[in-house]
Parts: sequence; structure tokens; C-alpha cells
Amino acid sequence: MPTPIITDGTMDKLVKAPRVVLPQEAGLFRDRAARFDALAPRDDSGAYMRFLSHVCRAQADAYGARTAHSVPERAVDNSRQYGMPPLSAHVTPRDPQWRADLRDILDRVQADYGESNTQLSTVIGKIRRQLESDASALEAVADRIIAGVSEPDDSASYPFIGAALQVYFSRLAATLTPEDVAVSDVPTVCPCCGMRPTASLVRINPDRMNYRYLVCSLCMTEWNLERVKCSSCEEEKGIGYLSVEVEGRAPADAAIRAETCDECKTYLKIFVQEKDPQIDPIADDLNSLALDMLVDEKGYARTGPNLLFYPGHE
Ligand SMILES: [Zn+2]
Ligand SMILES: [Zn+2]
Repeated sequence: MPTPIITDGTMDKLVKAPRVVLPQEAGLFRDRAARFDALAPRDDSGAYMRFLSHVCRAQADAYGARTAHSVPERAVDNSRQYGMPPLSAHVTPRDPQWRADLRDILDRVQADYGESNTQLSTVIGKIRRQLESDASALEAVADRIIAGVSEPDDSASYPFIGAALQVYFSRLAATLTPEDVAVSDVPTVCPCCGMRPTASLVRINPDRMNYRYLVCSLCMTEWNLERVKCSSCEEEKGIGYLSVEVEGRAPADAAIRAETCDECKTYLKIFVQEKDPQIDPIADDLNSLALDMLVDEKGYARTGPNLLFYPGHE
């Protein structure tokens, strides 16, 4: 149930923190592109972040290029009655529309770069050929991304296919209302599509101030989970926080921390907008890989994927 927050000291003006916040529009991809740009160092070391900025701009264009097909009434009924995610990514067949999104993203990124980057052109050319004549290979990569079992051969196409899936699923999620998305039996996966979150985000929106939301890695839905609780095993004891030292800032004051759990030995990052209002859970996640290394060395395993980044060997 939503938790009441008293906003102005009176009891008759209660604002409810929403339980679920569905994605609204393409703006989130544009904002993310701007964030990748802002985070990218100006020299060659920023090339990968700038590439992802282009990918996010392409996502925004693809998002606006077509409308979502309707979500079957049965899926919404199952969600309301049985708490199943209405867009369950693991079991619901995908419409080929996601491949049209993929084509748009490839075209836009190729147009941005021209022929200046031969490695990139080779990767894009290969995916384009698969779109024409071997769609089942792309569907298989998509299945593996969703199942979290990607293979080394998927690494080059991973960010493009991950990006297209995000566009397709967030556009579908935007057609639902919070009432369509039931309280899930498993609060640690997305109530809309069943995927794991990339990270936690503590927002500064007035109606969500200081509440923790898990941000879906696939459909961009955000859902509330109480703070100081493991987002994997739901235990409250054994929760700790780790951060990379930043000069002039106390560890507890860091905008980015890893929430670690000693019960299941996992972690997920938590981003605090109050410390950095521009923070973006997907872009800032990839800008803080040093934190992943630090936490990994201490023996915690990461639980949430970032669909713009091939996670490497398991
Ligand atoms: Zn989702
Ligand atoms: Zn745990």
C-alpha cells in the first residue's frame, strides 16, 4: 500500500507516495543522452560514454516513431487477479515491433558516426544483415539478455539489442495505468515486466521525497521498496553501504553507494538525487564501475543488469 507522507504539517493534505511509477514518454531517453554526454570525459577516454549518448538519442527517436500495440486484456486481468507482471518479459511473446526499433537505432547511430568508425560500422552492418535474413538469431540474443545468460559472442550487439528492448517495453509500459499493475508477490522484480532493477533511486520529486524506488532495467518502471532492505532476498539485517571515496565528501554523503547484503552476499547500487539532481540510474551506473570493482573484491555479487552494457563472463 502507498505510504502517506505529510507534506505541510497538516493531516488533511496527505500526499501518497506512489507504489508504482510507469514510464511516460521518450523524454527519459533524451535526459539520459544528455547525462551520458555530461559524464563523458572530453578526451578519448570518453568515447564509450559518448557512444551511449548517441544510442540514447536514437532510443528517444525510435520511441516516438511508432505507437505501442495494445496489451492483451487477459494479461492485465492476470496481473490484477494473480499479481503477475502484465508484460512478463520472460514468458510473453515479443511483437516484431522491437526489431523495427532496433533498425531505427542502428540507422540513427550509423548516421551520427558516418563511416568514421569502421569497427562500429562492422557491428551495425552485421546486425542489419541479421534483421534482413536471420531474425531468429537476434531473437535468441534478446532472449539471452532477458534471461541474464548472454554469451561472449553477444557482446558487440548487446547494447543495441538491449536499447531496442528498452524502447519496446517502456513504450508498452507507458500504455498501462498503475491500477493495471498489481502488487507483485515478489517485490524485488519489476511488477510490470518481471525483470530485475538496474539500481535503486532516491528521488527528489515532492511526492516521492526520500523514498527508495527500484528502477527496472528493461521497461523503466519504478517501484517502491522500503529502504535498508535487501533488494534481492528482502532481508533487513546485514545491510551495509560501500562507496568510492570522494574528496571532501563523507562516505554516508555519497550520491552513489552500493547497498550490500551479508545474508545473500549481493549488492545493488543506490543513487540519491538529493546529492546530485542530474543523476541517472543507467548512465551513472556505467560511470561508477570502479564501485562495482570495489564491491566485487569484497565478495558481493551484483544482482541487476544494465542493458546497455555487456556484463562479461559469468
Ligand atoms: Zn520492467
Ligand atoms: Zn540479500
